[in-house]
Amino acid sequence: MYNYLIVGAGLFGAAFARMAAESGKTCLVIEKRNHIGGNAYTEKVEGINVHRYGAHIFHTNSKPVWDFVSRFAVFNRYTNSPVANYKGEIYSLPFNMHTFSKMWGISTPDEARAIIEKQRAGVGEPSNLEEQAISLVGTDIYEKLVKGYTEKQWGRPCSELPAFIIKRLPVRFTYDNNYFNALFQGIPVGGYTAMVSAMLEGIEVRTGTDYLAHKPEFDALAEKVIYTGAIDEYFCCCLGALEYRTLRFETETLDTPNYQGNAVVNYTDSETPFTRIIEHKWFEFGRDENGNDLPKTVISREFSKEWEPGDEPYYPVNDAKNSALYEQYRELAGREEKVIFGGRLGEYKYYDMDNVIERALALAEKELKA
Ligand code: FAD
Repeated sequence: MYNYLIVGAGLFGAAFARMAAESGKTCLVIEKRNHIGGNAYTEKVEGINVHRYGAHIFHTNSKPVWDFVSRFAVFNRYTNSPVANYKGEIYSLPFNMHTFSKMWGISTPDEARAIIEKQRAGVGEPSNLEEQAISLVGTDIYEKLVKGYTEKQWGRPCSELPAFIIKRLPVRFTYDNNYFNALFQGIPVGGYTAMVSAMLEGIEVRTGTDYLAHKPEFDALAEKVIYTGAIDEYFCCCLGALEYRTLRFETETLDTPNYQGNAVVNYTDSETPFTRIIEHKWFEFGRDENGNDLPKTVISREFSKEWEPGDEPYYPVNDAKNSALYEQYRELAGREEKVIFGGRLGEYKYYDMDNVIERALALAEKELKA
């Protein structure tokens, strides 16, 4: 009998399994997909680590989390600096002095502040997302860089979206294109799959294995179960299905070494049907692990899509309705004697990778001490 059956070989499952194994516990990890890594999974195409489920950039302020992941991979110096393409005009993101300089031909923070101040004057208490965005960044940035992108993401006009979706928009009055404010940032050299594989080294893993299809048999194999799948699915959606936002990717290999010159380009107009294009090779500076330039490139166009049952559950929709439903499932989960729910799907919460690892390490600390 195993001490732990771990359902899901994403970052939560892998981090917990590592800690348990290092405490001398026996673990079996099962994963219904045919690969490990969860949504952070990368696969090699033409020597390029392709982020199959969307661009993943590791960033954290937590030294313990950074130290933990650094045991399993060397992180490169990638800094996320997306650019926006508005009808062929290129702007830096997040909104910073490079953006303002290009937009208005100015050069100092005072000039930028004055223009934004003038453009947002007159908006009272925002009653929708459009007014909220203008009150934060003014009309020019809203029209060119926020409106089209947000409407594509949500499938509705900004004037019909609630203001609370955009609580704040990062605005910087410095020449700093670094999207994240985190202390530590990078991409694991060789891809996330290699990192998770190193985390799971020496631990029994079975891919292509669905826990829920054979639950009683799997439960009988272990003293405890760490479940990182969707909480509603665990209960056969008996109270109704939780909703998600999802994405669709169109990925292609191109016979050119450089398609767009950056890993992430957001298309911020309304007419372009996709929200962004990821050119995967630039997460690793266009080179393979030995420093050789790669002759081809792989790009993914990212489309927002209304979620339907059966789609990949990407982003939990933490609105009032879904949060209330989740609470009901959480109550049921509390009654399960030997099952612990964790991770993005098990807790129905948008977690970045560092949050998930932090949560897994905290659970391991509590569990393994006990
Ligand atoms: P998952 O990665 O979803 O792993 C859960 C695993 O459980 C899956 O592999 C699933 O197949 C398996 N499973 C489910 N049900 C069963 C079952 N019944 N039987 C067996 N196995 C099962 N985070 C960042 O920090 N930076 C980023 O740039 C970033 N970008 C993102 C972009 C996108 C498009 C998305 C969707 C997420 C992004 N994230 C990012 C978040 C990141 O993906 C998550 O924090 C992390 O992958 C969650 O890990 P997890 O183990 O909780 O879940």
